[in-house]
Amino acid sequence: MNIPYRRFTEYQPVDIARLRPGGSYAQLIAKRTHPIDELVRVHGRIPEDLLRPRPCPTCGRSTPIHELDKDHMQLVRCGTCDLVYVTPTFDEGHYLEVYASQEYQDIVRDLGIKSHDYRVERFGKERLGLMQRHLAEARPRYLDVGCSTGFVVEAARDAGWEAIGIDLNPSAIEFGRGRGLDLRSVALDDGGFEPASFDAVSLFDVLEHLIDPAGTLRACARLLRPGGIVFLYVPNYDSASRLLMGRDAHFIWPTHHLNYYTPSTIGDLVRRQGLTLEVIVTEGLTKDDYVLVLVPAGRRFDWPKLRAHLGVSRLSLPDADEARDVTGYERYTITPFGSTRPWPVILDAAATDEPVVAIGGGGFGINVHLTPADLVRALDAEVVQVSEAEA
Ligand SMILES: [Zn+2]
Repeated sequence: MNIPYRRFTEYQPVDIARLRPGGSYAQLIAKRTHPIDELVRVHGRIPEDLLRPRPCPTCGRSTPIHELDKDHMQLVRCGTCDLVYVTPTFDEGHYLEVYASQEYQDIVRDLGIKSHDYRVERFGKERLGLMQRHLAEARPRYLDVGCSTGFVVEAARDAGWEAIGIDLNPSAIEFGRGRGLDLRSVALDDGGFEPASFDAVSLFDVLEHLIDPAGTLRACARLLRPGGIVFLYVPNYDSASRLLMGRDAHFIWPTHHLNYYTPSTIGDLVRRQGLTLEVIVTEGLTKDDYVLVLVPAGRRFDWPKLRAHLGVSRLSLPDADEARDVTGYERYTITPFGSTRPWPVILDAAATDEPVVAIGGGGFGINVHLTPADLVRALDAEVVQVSEAEA
């Protein structure tokens, strides 16, 4: 698995005024609890008989540990596989009604239809580019599950793909069909799609809404031709916004978002369905932004050069505990080989002057000797001048 590290300067900005035109975001926040407002008004809470406990949707076990409360509902952390999810929940029929409800269609109309053109340009084309980098076919057959107004389908169609979208929101589908897109207002199981008939299936911002995300992921996998790819977007529960804002982070929305993934728990879900995890990318800030920098002994970090290279204004060295959590190794034995995750590696240019370099081997007194060229190849390292001679 490879987690590409994106420099801050590589992020495309989002124009909030065009993405959330008028007062549409304030409206969304005001209507956030629309499915339960009437219940809470009458009963002061959600009556227990409307809710049912739910086992972990990844591992199926019932070992919940309380995580937080919000909007009269509860998030728990699975004591077995660490997934954060909502329990108890309403039954599946309730959620189908929520997404077909007038209130939700109004939300999508305000947020989705008014910003459709912007979404095609900003998100549709970006997602298309992501998929193109991983697909062999020039004109893939593509299904977007939970397509909303079809802003990704439109970018795909315009690039010559055979693109189909499905969604349970009739207003969004009607709008997209009006733009000549092949959109259908059906559930995945009722779509009548031939098994093994698509090169790509996407679930952009969908899995977090589902009672049974594993079942939907398997259904998508069945639609893939050999070598086909499922593309997923989910909010990141380990993101900086959640760590800074806690339960107030905007995507913690338990009436609609039932599952909360991290890079680790989404990988777990994917593998349990028999799929191979090819790549994970995190957008924006995450608590997991680390980079391993290899500098020859006897030289010291040139912090300004490293900051400039990474395009960040702040960098720090983790303390011993944090370094162990991040790499799996005690301080003085840390090595990129066999680290808990394949953190990006920067090799100081000064090291490439040597015929052979020795780097830590994961234990005290263990060194690995290899040429700088082999080191760069094995770790996909970037070579950058980030040290200066010690005074
Ligand atoms: Zn679990």
